[in-house]
Amino acid sequence: MKATKIVATIGPASESEEMLERLFSAGVNVCRLNFSHGSHEWHSDAIGRIRSVSDRLGVHVGVLADLQGPRIRTLVSDEIVLESDQRVVVVGGMPSGGDELSIGLDCPRVVANFVEGHEILIEDGLMRLRVVSSGTDRVEAVVIDGGVVKNHKGINVPDTDVPLASLTEKDLSDLAFVLDEGVDFVALSFVRRGADVRDLRARILSHLGDRAEAVPQIVSKVERKEALLALPEILRETDVVMVARGDLGIEAQPSRVTIFQKEIIAQCLKAARPVIVATQMLDSMIRNPRPTRAEVSDVSNAVIDHADAVMLSGETAGGAYPFETVSTMSAIIRDTEESPFDDVLEALETTVDSDYVSVLRGAYDLARHSQARAILLFSHSGFTARLMSHFRPQERLYVATDEVLTARQLALVWGVRSYVTERTEDPYKAIVGLIDRLKKEDRLKVGDSAVIVLGALPGVGSLRLVGVQVVE
Ligand code: PEP
Repeated sequence: MKATKIVATIGPASESEEMLERLFSAGVNVCRLNFSHGSHEWHSDAIGRIRSVSDRLGVHVGVLADLQGPRIRTLVSDEIVLESDQRVVVVGGMPSGGDELSIGLDCPRVVANFVEGHEILIEDGLMRLRVVSSGTDRVEAVVIDGGVVKNHKGINVPDTDVPLASLTEKDLSDLAFVLDEGVDFVALSFVRRGADVRDLRARILSHLGDRAEAVPQIVSKVERKEALLALPEILRETDVVMVARGDLGIEAQPSRVTIFQKEIIAQCLKAARPVIVATQMLDSMIRNPRPTRAEVSDVSNAVIDHADAVMLSGETAGGAYPFETVSTMSAIIRDTEESPFDDVLEALETTVDSDYVSVLRGAYDLARHSQARAILLFSHSGFTARLMSHFRPQERLYVATDEVLTARQLALVWGVRSYVTERTEDPYKAIVGLIDRLKKEDRLKVGDSAVIVLGALPGVGSLRLVGVQVVE
């Protein structure tokens, strides 16, 4: 059992039931659906297949809907070849033609916010322009790095304030769709501040009304400079964080991406918020059956940083080797976790301070200093399980929950393996059932000892640390 989880983006290379089954068996815990691509019909079918394969295999795989967010794109009627030092005009809307070399942007209002010196990056930063003179509906720029500009390619404007709401019309329609489909996580792209997350949560709650048992968790994608600065307030509002290294490497300095990754993970660990490291982790496996040594090092490094999860994008969505990629990632995770380099030598610090946390720290210490093989925990909403996972215990962490949604959301959380039990007013009963199942699966045997924690059950009981119990 690996503790670090795998998020895999589902696309044409992985959408079939056969491939999903192979990927889940190879270690995928959460499926990401990228709403920058695909129709609602395609996504609905994919969700149906993910749910049916999970049920058949008896695993709790989460579904994460990744909203596109306010991404600006190029508008050109024909491809444009840009040479270094050339002058080019950038306009809002489709360029009207004529002799000038012109690139249109599908967000007309951003053009007025460009001032001299601002950079405009096209297609993952492959092409780069610098603004030399500003205007309200057109600016002039000089080409720094040339290339071929195609229609509908992503634009990054790291120096410029983007006058777009955090949720576009498309995002709002996608949000309503994914809430009705019952996804487990909604990811918000280009988050700038805590208020963006608050706004999304308010929309989710208002759409779901009294279907409160279906509230998905919010994943804030940290990819803009503003988000790095506002991380403490974003952490107060969000459930999960994604280090979205693709855009982060364009919006902030690419040479500092590893440092940002480490800083973001450290802050997430302190705040006990699950964190995903994303993008290009095994990128060359889109084309090749083996990773580069640098990619192996990148995955190991995220494990050593204690991230909850690592993510695959094009590798599983459209690559030639989706199964080999997931198997490779699982092997790297296992080997790294077996090494001493990811060991936690002292209890991790946390900024979450309460009696609740103190009891869980006590359980962690008890497990560490006893012969316990496992920590068995009852968690209704997943809160207790997330806090326990935060300490990154060496012992196996098995969680009984009476909510399927909780089990799917815990699929993202480091070290947790969840089991769904019947609704109960007695969490200890759920633990007895859990012990039976773990014995049947050979995960525990008679004579093993385990630390038992019973998370609070709303309206019924408060948190209890039962202590060490020997399995009979
Ligand atoms: C990223 O930029 O790293 C990312 C995950 O976002 P997207 O793939 O949606 O651009």
